[in-house]
Amino acid sequence: MNTTRLSFEFFPPKTADGIEKLRETRGQLAKYNPEFFSVTFGAGGSTRDRTMDTVLEIQKEGFQAAPHISCISSSKEEISHLLQAYQAQGIKRLVALRGDVPSGEVSSGDFRYAVELVEFIRAETGDQFHIEVAAYPEFHPEARTPTADLLNLKRKVDAGATSAITQYFYNADAYFRFLDQCEIAGIDIPIVPGIMPIYNITQLARFSSICGAEIPRWLRMRLEEYAEDMPSLRAFGVDVVSELCETLQTWGVPSLHFYTLNRSGIISNIIENISE
Ligand code: FAD
Repeated sequence: MNTTRLSFEFFPPKTADGIEKLRETRGQLAKYNPEFFSVTFGAGGSTRDRTMDTVLEIQKEGFQAAPHISCISSSKEEISHLLQAYQAQGIKRLVALRGDVPSGEVSSGDFRYAVELVEFIRAETGDQFHIEVAAYPEFHPEARTPTADLLNLKRKVDAGATSAITQYFYNADAYFRFLDQCEIAGIDIPIVPGIMPIYNITQLARFSSICGAEIPRWLRMRLEEYAEDMPSLRAFGVDVVSELCETLQTWGVPSLHFYTLNRSGIISNIIENISE
């Protein structure tokens, strides 16, 4: 019986069809009694209304919904309105991020880094929200050094973050070493591993090159070999990610946060495997 708590991340759908598919996905994942469902937010507020609509629908269904807020290219006034709207709707948990400026654009907002957003949320709303922040066991691509990245997480904790969710990784060792470093640095909040199921190699390679998550050579080569054989690729991916989750569970992780890409099938297979 699986007792690890779970949470699931969605992106806000754009079309009526996407909204309907996400309802089905939520219906499937709801049976695992998740701690919360989170909904991403496009930098500069590009998905603001869709994120809000999705969050409110989740909340109406009786689940805890956690909107992401990315602050880059936003003004303090815009973020303040958003916080007021979420407070008025009874939202209790936020995922506070910097976000990335779309290529070719220049940031023009009031915030440079996520720590400033965490400070702002605490100043505006006190202890109203449980604030999640991002953490990077394999280091953020812009990090000057591993230590500088760790100190950035420490600053976010000191500013009021309640817990952290990591970028995805396939090297469990990187996560465990990161936890050791956090402990030494006095970071004492829960650091929940973010889990990325494997759907297809092209998409995974693209995500990983942007966010700095390593696909180990043995994994990449096996996935490339299966590139023309989706059923085998997915079955192999389920095995690899299930083993990763089991290793993390064995070491007593606080919970697992799944990047769902708004799909439930592969995640259900993984959860069934790790619940046996
Ligand atoms: P920060 O914590 O601000 O760190 C960004 C970089 O700046 C790091 O390299 C850090 O070391 C460096 N840094 C911090 N302070 C300083 C300083 N004073 N001087 C120099 N360097 C510094 N993106 C979205 O747009 N929408 C989402 O919904 C979203 N959800 C996410 C959910 C999770 C769980 C994760 C892990 C990421 C998510 N992202 C999302 C991606 C995230 O926005 C990017 O990774 C972004 O590049 C960094 O965001 P951050 O909050 O980690 O930034």
